[in-house]
Amino acid sequence: MNMVTTAPPRAKVEEKLFQNRYLVDAGRPHIRVKPHETPSASLVAMTTLCPAGCYSQTESGQVEVAADGCLECGTCRILTRETGEIEWNYPRGGFGVLYKFG
Ligand code: SF4
Repeated sequence: MNMVTTAPPRAKVEEKLFQNRYLVDAGRPHIRVKPHETPSASLVAMTTLCPAGCYSQTESGQVEVAADGCLECGTCRILTRETGEIEWNYPRGGFGVLYKFG
């Protein structure tokens, strides 16, 4: 007897992230990039490493963060721990990411 097995359907990361919801705490971002002339390599790396795409680089080379959509994974906090270029806090209670599946 032949049994045909099929792999479960796979979802792309973008599709999974779309399942989350985010409640913005207007005017109170929980992550700030400190003013700087030249960002460290670690801070620049966040423009490609942040899973939520929160970091970007301006034409003049400074790194910015828009914390809306932040997944609170802590990658940027850890990567810039030595340089101290960001201020990182959890959002206030009731704000931030709401994980649909836990
Ligand atoms: Fe991006 Fe994670 Fe930092 Fe949030 S905590 S800004 S998701 S790297």
